Amino acid sequence: MSHQTSGNELDALLNKMKSAVSPVRGILRELHEKFLPTLDGKVADYIPELAKADPRWFGISIVTRHGQFVEVGDFRQMFTIQSISKPFVFGLALEDHGRDDVMRRVGVEPTGEAFNAIVLDESSNRPFNPMVNSGAIATADLIKGRDFPERVSRMIAMFGRYCGRQVHLDNTVFMSERLTGHRNRAIGHLMLNFGMVGERIEDSLELYFQQCSIQVNCHDLAVMGATLANGGVNPITGERAIEARYVKDLLSVMLTCGMYDYAGEWAYRVGIPAKSGVGGGIVAVLPGVAGIGIFSPALDPKGNSVRGLKVCEELSTRFGLHAFESTPGAESLLAELQPSSR
Ligand code: GLN
Repeated sequence: MSHQTSGNELDALLNKMKSAVSPVRGILRELHEKFLPTLDGKVADYIPELAKADPRWFGISIVTRHGQFVEVGDFRQMFTIQSISKPFVFGLALEDHGRDDVMRRVGVEPTGEAFNAIVLDESSNRPFNPMVNSGAIATADLIKGRDFPERVSRMIAMFGRYCGRQVHLDNTVFMSERLTGHRNRAIGHLMLNFGMVGERIEDSLELYFQQCSIQVNCHDLAVMGATLANGGVNPITGERAIEARYVKDLLSVMLTCGMYDYAGEWAYRVGIPAKSGVGGGIVAVLPGVAGIGIFSPALDPKGNSVRGLKVCEELSTRFGLHAFESTPGAESLLAELQPSSR
């Protein structure tokens, strides 16, 4: 043979062939490669455990509502779910109390303020929405159970249904969250002062710290997103995680309030319901199509994953995924990921 194929050339060829089989996988690889050198942003450091995250970690996962998936990079790396837990616990509160009762305790207005702002709606004393800490703590307070352990286990079981596996807490993160959570306690007690939460607020804060400390990876986030994309049924296990009628409640607050005080610009530029967390995760939902999970712990000043934002923005533009796109492309993404035997 006159020409020896080098390892690199072979890899490039194999990648090309794989991309031809699945263009979506090719695009994910391309985006991963493109944004891997981006080292902007800072990992969260309000507790030492989060500061230990490696800013180079970067994973992307897409899971369709039929359960097919493509994933690249560090998609198995575990991290804490943090604020991404908020819409899901909101869903459980809706199941426990119904829309009207939940709305008496927490609104659905975007705030334009930082997620940990100590502010309530002046006329109603309600927290503005369930995606900021005040609203999430009020939501956690609504989770039912005979006693505190039962409330916690109902919350943990709910995340297990979304992920399709038993979930666990990162105990060190949890201990630090509760040890340093004075601001969240202040928010909880301010709401107690206004009668927005009950006397069990200490338990509810504990539940909130626990929900933030649940360990997930990028794949889990994509499965959680795919479950919402699939009307509330986990596409891998077939188990229902949330009543179908509440899925749109979660998606609408994610679209309007899910990305901290970047939510408006996100809705404008990306137009996909999503939620981010300071652990570096983002979950995004293409209703009826797929869930996207991204993990990259370096955050911008508003608390969103820098690479996560870039990937979502580019996916939205390239596939035409914006909710109000005049020529929507989300269905084509689903078609591409269908197994060819179908
Ligand atoms: N657990 C943290 C807090 O409550 C951060 C939540 C988040 O991801 N913004 O302050």
